[in-house]
Amino acid sequence: MAHIALINLPSHGHTNPTLPLVAELVRRGHRVTYYSFPEFQAKVEQAGAEFRSYAGVSAINPSQPDPSLVVVGEQLLRATLDLLPFFQAELARVRPDLLLYDSLCAWGRYVGQLLALPAACSMTTFAVNLPVMLHFPRQALHMLRSLAQDWPQSRRFGTLARQLQRTYGLPRPQLPDMFQNAGDLNLVFTSAQFQPFASAFDGSYRFIGTSLEPAHTQQLALPDTRILYISLGTLFNADLGFYRRCLQAFGGRDDLHVVMSVGHNIASADLGQLPANVTVRSSVPQLEVLQRAAAFISHGGMNSVQEAFSFGVPLALVPQGGDQGVVAQRVVDLGAGVQLAPSRTSVPALQAAVETLLTDQRYRAASAALGDSLRHCGGAARGADELEQFYRRSQISRTAVESSPH
Ligand code: UDP
Repeated sequence: MAHIALINLPSHGHTNPTLPLVAELVRRGHRVTYYSFPEFQAKVEQAGAEFRSYAGVSAINPSQPDPSLVVVGEQLLRATLDLLPFFQAELARVRPDLLLYDSLCAWGRYVGQLLALPAACSMTTFAVNLPVMLHFPRQALHMLRSLAQDWPQSRRFGTLARQLQRTYGLPRPQLPDMFQNAGDLNLVFTSAQFQPFASAFDGSYRFIGTSLEPAHTQQLALPDTRILYISLGTLFNADLGFYRRCLQAFGGRDDLHVVMSVGHNIASADLGQLPANVTVRSSVPQLEVLQRAAAFISHGGMNSVQEAFSFGVPLALVPQGGDQGVVAQRVVDLGAGVQLAPSRTSVPALQAAVETLLTDQRYRAASAALGDSLRHCGGAARGADELEQFYRRSQISRTAVESSPH
């Protein structure tokens, strides 16, 4: 039995894929201590982990959609400086056998290095390397433009990077280091089929797919009609105009029932009188809805997209920021959906996209094939196997170091 410390971000997208893995580890007799923010405590404890609250920072997620990489990078480095004293003291006291940290938690990678802990990385979106970046030229260009625009901010990043180097004797980080915190083992929650250039990654990257476990206990009563599901995820989801256009596009149809998850920043009252064929909630049991859905208008969050694949649901993607443009592009490349720029979501454009998905069965077939690829990766059981083997290898090398003659 091993004691595993898991360090994550306060984000449903980064948390949900880890929960079945935690449950599997606990089922095998391991102990998992999970570091996150209080709003995730119930979820984490339900999976069987011991919850510990972050200390020292009150927010990490970017507050506006599509912030530049420089802004996010600086925010992550600042959080790293704020959090390292806490995690250094905490993990020195707890002495876990193994550390698993999210790929955006640079503080997780650094504390592993400082305390010489065997450390694995949890990647809930695509693994990134140069061929992957070059495969998405529009996104690469966007990144370069934002680097040029935010030059003053990048000077601030440099100052913080030198501070980290001086304080901890760590190599001075560059901006990309904030986004690529690979460990000695990297658990990537997707399949080699969906990951672009999977073969360009070395053996430390294991594509373990997904295991789905409903995070919601609530149920949603739905009519027998075909379901169109609409959600912009849990982060950048406050585009009232978009929801209103969706109501105009699909409200009043008798061959389609619309389920719309609008997040906690939009009140149902803001949408006016709802047509009879529309259900609006701030949050829905997404897996349950997808099980019934004929099409999904989504922001292109990695989890939402992969959950759709699991039920063979075709997607119309309206990326809002972050990695969503890259995920959406990959879905389109593999034939499982269509993409609409956020500025091009007029009523006719939304109607045409959904009509395409409902009539051309190739989108549904491609989505289902990707769902199969995710299931065949092994999911939580494979992830737990990989961590156990990694733990055994690290014990063997530690014993070898301790017993070697000086
Ligand atoms: N989710 C949910 N109910 C909702 C909206 C979202 O359960 O009404 C879940 C969804 O199933 C997914 C996660 O929240 O697991 C959203 O993650 P994703 O990566 O798709 O997007 P993010 O919210 O991180 O942008």
